[in-house]
Amino acid sequence: MRYVSTSGNSPAATFRDSLFSGLAPDGGLYVPERLPEIPASLLKSFEDQSMHSIGREISALFIDDIPPQDLSAIVERAWTFPIPLVPLEENLHLLELFHGPTLAFKDVGARFMAQVLSYYLKKSEKEITILVATSGDTGSAVAQGFFEAPHITVCVLYPTGKISKLQEQQMATLGKNIRAFEVDGTFDDCQRMVKEALSDVDLVRKRNLTTANSMNLGRLIPQIVYYVWGLAQWSKKFSGTDKPTVVVPSGNFGNLTAAVYAKQMGAPIGKLIAATNVNDVVPQYLTSGEYKPRPSLQTYSNAMDVGNPSNLARLRTLFRDNLAELRKHISAISISDDETLAEIQKTYERTGIILDPHTAVGVSAARKSGGAGPVIIAATAHPGKFPEVIERAIGKKIPLPKQLVEAMKRGKVSVRVKADYNALREWLSHRK
Ligand SMILES: *Cc1c(COP(=O)(O)O)cnc(C)c1O
Repeated sequence: MRYVSTSGNSPAATFRDSLFSGLAPDGGLYVPERLPEIPASLLKSFEDQSMHSIGREISALFIDDIPPQDLSAIVERAWTFPIPLVPLEENLHLLELFHGPTLAFKDVGARFMAQVLSYYLKKSEKEITILVATSGDTGSAVAQGFFEAPHITVCVLYPTGKISKLQEQQMATLGKNIRAFEVDGTFDDCQRMVKEALSDVDLVRKRNLTTANSMNLGRLIPQIVYYVWGLAQWSKKFSGTDKPTVVVPSGNFGNLTAAVYAKQMGAPIGKLIAATNVNDVVPQYLTSGEYKPRPSLQTYSNAMDVGNPSNLARLRTLFRDNLAELRKHISAISISDDETLAEIQKTYERTGIILDPHTAVGVSAARKSGGAGPVIIAATAHPGKFPEVIERAIGKKIPLPKQLVEAMKRGKVSVRVKADYNALREWLSHRK
């Protein structure tokens, strides 16, 4: 399997090269040259297989230089938590992707990517350093995902005082191979310092510096796995019925892209619905045919506050930039903050289940779409991460999940630095 750039001006790459480089040299995103098909007999056999063995089979379709037994070890180390398909109401199911250490679906991809990177590094006896600038959530998913991954040091830069205590505790208390830099400045300062480091040729060579952004194929492939797994669970339970619609709460549209890939590969998905908050550039684009990126607005579902979604390039490439084809496969619905709160409240009253604001956008979109058939909604985060919004919606405090209680108890082990690249450079030049 080879990978080509959505911008079309880079040579085809192996999976391994795409993993280490992140973006293609022409600035595009890597996509598979051709999507592999899952043979019907294999698909049927998935109904009786574990998430891990489906993970091995699906990743083997994309990664051809890692033997099956090693892929098994990688997925077993990456996914130490369940991904259950849970009934919500008649015809509505949640695929709960949030049982990992940071309680959001990004754990699934980040932990797989960390294991695969470590695997290749062990073969080459190389050590790398990954730099990430964060305004909160990405840093904690990457830090937790790469925690104790061999041959990798992660440096997370965050603006002091500008992220929540919970977010800080999740990334600045780990120690070992995770270095947290508390920067006296803003998120933009952190991002600038990372960019300066990545263009510092000497340092890049000396420490094998790279980054771990969400456009990396190493995070996309594992997300295909959970759709195939979820649909296999569904088929086993409801064989012979209509294919379910899948609804994906979307920001950068990586998770939706994974669902579209799963469908094109043969997973029994009916329609696909992208659910956004008021940052609705994709719903607007599907309606008007004009793509107009714009600055993002802040909402309750803040991990989806994206004004120029990066993975749309992958979807446009898949459907050869043909709007009619895109519309045939994907519809999109935008949900306001008021509708999000109302959905959390309504679902709680009806079922006793508390949705996080992102999943609530998905459930609300599922209801709005008005279809009569079965629906699976990707549940992207645990409600316990958003206590203020939940309290506003249902008038009750919810207990902090145990992962977060643990994180709150740990002591901080961060390094405070000035918002100046030299401070970071000094540290990276002299320390392990
Ligand atoms: C990142 C995130 C999203 C958006 O996912 P994309 O792949 O960027 O569309 C949705 N919900 C939660 C909780 C997230 O953290």
